[in-house]
Amino acid sequence: MKSGLLLSALALFALSAHLTASQHPQPAAPSQPVVVTQSKGAADRQPAVAPRAESHYVLTPERRAKAVAYSRTQYLLYFAAIALSLAIYAFLWRSGFAVGLREWVRQVSAGRFVQCVLFVSLFLAVVRVLEFPLDYYWGFALEHRYDLSTQGFGSWMADWVKDLGLTAVVGIIVVWVFYWLVRRSPRRWWLYFWFASIPITLAFIIVEPYVVEPLFYRFTPLEKTQPALTDRIEKMLEHAHLAIPRSRIYEMDASAKTRIVNAYVSGWGASKRLVVWDTTLNKLNSDETLLVVGHEAGHYVLHHIPKEFALDEMIFLVLFYVGFVFINRIIAHETARTRHSEPPTVIPSEARNLTVPVQGKLREESRIASRSQTEIPRFARNDRVEGVGDLASLPIVLLVLTVLVFLATPALDGISRHFEHQADQFGLEVAYGVVADPNTADVRSFQIMAEEDLEDPDPSPFIRFWLYTHPPTDERIRFAASYKPWAEGKPLEFVPAIR
Ligand SMILES: [Zn+2]
Repeated sequence: MKSGLLLSALALFALSAHLTASQHPQPAAPSQPVVVTQSKGAADRQPAVAPRAESHYVLTPERRAKAVAYSRTQYLLYFAAIALSLAIYAFLWRSGFAVGLREWVRQVSAGRFVQCVLFVSLFLAVVRVLEFPLDYYWGFALEHRYDLSTQGFGSWMADWVKDLGLTAVVGIIVVWVFYWLVRRSPRRWWLYFWFASIPITLAFIIVEPYVVEPLFYRFTPLEKTQPALTDRIEKMLEHAHLAIPRSRIYEMDASAKTRIVNAYVSGWGASKRLVVWDTTLNKLNSDETLLVVGHEAGHYVLHHIPKEFALDEMIFLVLFYVGFVFINRIIAHETARTRHSEPPTVIPSEARNLTVPVQGKLREESRIASRSQTEIPRFARNDRVEGVGDLASLPIVLLVLTVLVFLATPALDGISRHFEHQADQFGLEVAYGVVADPNTADVRSFQIMAEEDLEDPDPSPFIRFWLYTHPPTDERIRFAASYKPWAEGKPLEFVPAIR
């Protein structure tokens, strides 16, 4: 999905980002947090390199050096981006920016929803502007330096702005739900927010193909340009028992922005569709394209989206609870600290809202307190986070959740790698009988995609563990070359013999 690090900072967003990114990496989008992509492109493919299928990932020494340098920069940027986000949240919290912003939105409107819309939009805008230098370097400058992007600055910038708008819309909804639940249930919000995250994420997956994807790319029915390939894809989808009507197979104009090679299946239920990037059609022959499509079909047929969603949600349940504990502690410490430095006559604003007719004396005190507060100069009023339910706690919430999601990344990626490997196996099985030599075509497709993408030929075990949502290319190629149960008279695991 085309969202920035801020999205992944909110754990819920991270979940949907993680899910969709592992289905169809979109490295051309600005501030893309997913370092490891399945496939990308470059222009200098040498047809002489691999006329026959090698059983591992092969690069010329020059290209290999380039791939290693590019990958290492990406890894560094990933960790730098996390550190930068944490620094920004810490700054917006400790500098009093969030509290000042909350005071301002309270003056503008008494309505909580209006306050939320204003607060979140401005808060996100400031965060994204502070992140911009890194976004620019990672999403634009670096891609051009390595000749992976074909996108002009104006177009990239337009995407950046659209991404910001999208982040704000999703952010407002999620933040509104979050604070509503925190106010309703200060002790159980972690559980209710977890429940709420399920329909929100599902809605996002269903709506994404209609609303998000057309914002960034143009789609045309594949049968208009590639009727023969569409026939073959249709035959293979039938073979996979995947019901995607011919009219929902699309070509995407990825080449306007990138050299990356890819295909994906997105949406759910009626919004389900298959998309082949035009870069793929330019670089891969139809056998090789079918193997890529077979992999994507595998995600659907093997129900990877609901399975991965369920497993990730289990992890997020734990994260939300741990987050709840840490957020409460930090905010309790915060309010205790600031309360000490205040004149003792000022009663916390919660007391002002007490409508319960307690004793006349207390009510009288409350009235005095609220009067004395209105007399205090603007920024000296309520200059603290009033509790978890206060919008001003947002940088603290994001800080804690970003750390937790970061620590959970190896687990989330491990789950993803497992399903990606299954999809690779499915792709080979479903192509058997449709493609003359599935192994060779699969090896070739990985080789071309990885070579063009400058994929790391030899990632360290730590990097693989922490960042890889897909198995490293060399591993995938070795498997693609060696998995042939049909040659050994063994049954297929996922696609029962139909022919
Ligand atoms: Zn996949």
